[in-house]
Amino acid sequence: MANPLYDRLFGKHAGKPTPFLHLPDGAVLTHDAFLQMAARLAHVLTGLGLRPGDRLAAQVQKSPEALALYAACVQAGVVFLPLNTGYTVDELAYFIENSGAALVVCDGPGATALAPVCNRLGAGLKTLNADGSGSLTGDMAGMPASFATAERTEEDLAALLYTSGTTGRSKGAMLTQTNLLSNAETLVEYWRFTADDVLLHALPIFHTHGLFVATNVTLAAGGAMVFLPKFDLDAIIGWMPRATAMMGVPTFYTRLLDDARFTRDLASHMRLFISGSAPLLAETHRQFEERTGHRILERYGMTETNMNTSNPYDGERRAGTVGFPLPGVELKITDPATGETVAPGEVGQIEVRGDNVFKGYWQMPEKTREELRDDGFFITGDLGRIDEEGYVHIVGRNKDLIISGGYNIYPKEVEIVLDEQPGVLESAVIGVPHPDFGETVLGIIVPKPGEMPDLDAISEAVAASLARFKHPRKLIVVDELPRNTMAKVQKNLLREAYADTFAPVGG
Ligand code: ATP
Ligand code: MG
Repeated sequence: MANPLYDRLFGKHAGKPTPFLHLPDGAVLTHDAFLQMAARLAHVLTGLGLRPGDRLAAQVQKSPEALALYAACVQAGVVFLPLNTGYTVDELAYFIENSGAALVVCDGPGATALAPVCNRLGAGLKTLNADGSGSLTGDMAGMPASFATAERTEEDLAALLYTSGTTGRSKGAMLTQTNLLSNAETLVEYWRFTADDVLLHALPIFHTHGLFVATNVTLAAGGAMVFLPKFDLDAIIGWMPRATAMMGVPTFYTRLLDDARFTRDLASHMRLFISGSAPLLAETHRQFEERTGHRILERYGMTETNMNTSNPYDGERRAGTVGFPLPGVELKITDPATGETVAPGEVGQIEVRGDNVFKGYWQMPEKTREELRDDGFFITGDLGRIDEEGYVHIVGRNKDLIISGGYNIYPKEVEIVLDEQPGVLESAVIGVPHPDFGETVLGIIVPKPGEMPDLDAISEAVAASLARFKHPRKLIVVDELPRNTMAKVQKNLLREAYADTFAPVGG
């Protein structure tokens, strides 16, 4: 029976004694042992009454079993719905209700608090890694190590993945087998992954980055992963001599650079460092190359589309850009007002089309119609431009666009100038209400450790390089920017916190 996603990512490794997961304690799980674990779990799931197309919501810690649960869902045709381990019971209730999950799998103590929610919503509830009955791993014990793979077509749903909720309430992106497969196989070629690769995997596996990029690429290539529960500098540095590649968010790279043990010699074992999920500062790029001789490869993707663009493997990896559209991905920049393609080099909204693009938002037909055009182009919500050589630059999110006195201001353009100033580590530029201009520009600056930037000098530097309407009306210094678990700056929180900055006194 055919199940393209299972066959091409998982099933083809059946019987292979090759390493798949290197665990922190030095234990190794082979491809074959991993597939046996998944098959046993698939038996448990079908024994619980789950059928192809049902949703399984999992809020579980990163572990081999948690990853095997993903494989088991694919094999049994169950739609996998991984959830951020940081979500509270109230937040989980929304996802369980919205998705109509048939089964909720959760780790340890959280299960008690979830029981009334699952009861109310008619969902089953199980733990994962616990002894005895009630836990999926407990139930696995007597199960056969092979499972008759459920038949699925490429158009069937494989996963329901909720967006990070950076700009508002998380939306469930419906991802088909094709969405996941096409991207995994394209990236294997683009980034030259092979069965010899050992990927340093310190990302969470509830997000597209750690699950569908890192894991699916490794599976498609037949390689291995060093599977770390979280980003732990000691572990990363200890494992690096045995690894070949790393995928991370920008903060992984800044933290590595802060550690004197991270040397050119240590990095010489690696062939590739990839960054995504949030913008990589040009300064990080520069320091990383100076320290290691490697240029970090930055790419751009999202929950709804997996990966859209990547800097080239060979050729210039251009700092401040996310590279070129991947093979099979069409990307255009359009005017938000008209939907027409803008003139070359101009900023507009980024639209993408290809096998990677999702099938719509779960139970949100209106939102789907707004953002997914009839011709297949998805309006990403990001703003960008394409330079003369075809590199895509992201200038921010549509929702972060500042409109002040009728002028459009792209925060990124101002942030780039602020970030270059002496003593500035990073910055965030937001629009806040202003009685005269509707909105005005506020610059929020994080100083480099131990330094106090000269705000007057910064204002002068800004005045020299940007048009007047783009100048921050005020600069504020903070210790750090609020970020979510994927290292994304939460500008909505900043906008809320500073909403009254220019409020009329006594109003
Ligand atoms: P929500 O859609 O719920 O507001 P989110 O967009 O943050 O949340 P994700 O799908 O996890 O949820 O993130 C995708 C977004 O991350 C992209 O739309 C883009 O804004 C940002 N992003 C990803 N990679 C990069 C990158 N290399 N540079 C800049 N931004 C990036
Ligand atoms: Mg989004």
